[in-house]
Amino acid sequence: MKEVAIGIDIGGTNSEFGFVNHEGDVIAHGKINTIGYPDAKDFVSALCTKIEEVRKTIKEEIILKGIGIGAPNGNYYTGTIEHAPNLEWKGIVHLAEMFRKHYPGALVSLTNDANAAAIGEMIYGGAKNMKEFIVITLGTGLGSGIVINGELVYGHTGFAGELGHTIVITDGRICGCGRQGCLENYASATGIKRTVFELLAKFRDDSPLRAITYNDLTAKMVTEAAEKGDKIALEAFDYTAKMLALGIVNSVAFSSPEAIFLFGGLAQAGDFIFKPTQKYVDQNMLFVFKDSIKILPSQIKESNAAVLGASALVWKELAKA
Ligand SMILES: [Zn+2]
Repeated sequence: MKEVAIGIDIGGTNSEFGFVNHEGDVIAHGKINTIGYPDAKDFVSALCTKIEEVRKTIKEEIILKGIGIGAPNGNYYTGTIEHAPNLEWKGIVHLAEMFRKHYPGALVSLTNDANAAAIGEMIYGGAKNMKEFIVITLGTGLGSGIVINGELVYGHTGFAGELGHTIVITDGRICGCGRQGCLENYASATGIKRTVFELLAKFRDDSPLRAITYNDLTAKMVTEAAEKGDKIALEAFDYTAKMLALGIVNSVAFSSPEAIFLFGGLAQAGDFIFKPTQKYVDQNMLFVFKDSIKILPSQIKESNAAVLGASALVWKELAKA
């Protein structure tokens, strides 16, 4: 019989899940809409029904070892989602408890998406043999999971590791958190868009990016323009990398990791982001940490990374027991 963990990724629009074995193979998967369930209990019921449907399609015999959930604003300590701006459910939602009602006695572990990504990297990815590393997810925002001495840092509240909301410029860009100058407003897919528009306003250079509206522009389009040598796009990557490097050197100063893994849409830009980031990290690193860290692409495949990360929570919890 094969041991499997269910990994669930709660997204703003869809929620995906997969049955995952120890090696990180997704042996079956499915998804349902996240929207359309004003009461989270109905969502959990619908998701569990779907999970059982998919379970029936698995031919080999399996033993379910637990359920891992990656959710926005997920709190590991309490198994709750707290005030998630992109979800219908307001306030504090006791999500892990709701799953335990459907799976009595099962191990259910919940954390936020970036922490789940870090555990995924540790169990299945490039951090298998590392005890000190940070995963930075460069998506719509900037998420991070910090691992010290082989353990994810949850902190006193359960919310530790919010590198995206470290302030890098006082009175800088307005952030979704209500403050100003947080790193994620510069180093993220949204951040690079904002940078592109600032550069378009500042310079007069021709650029294919001028023809694209703010809402239509994607980080991928900026990469494509950079590939063609567009000055605005290249400059935007350079500035994004400069800000990301600040976040990196500051993190290194307090936790001295062996590696920083970059994950997500913007990390797909390859050398356009990695090269300048490395350059600015080298320029700004405190001397005692010079050349002590590697900046690497995540080794987890993008397509099912969130589900893998969530499932890895289960293996991590079992290893503790
Ligand atoms: Zn912020």
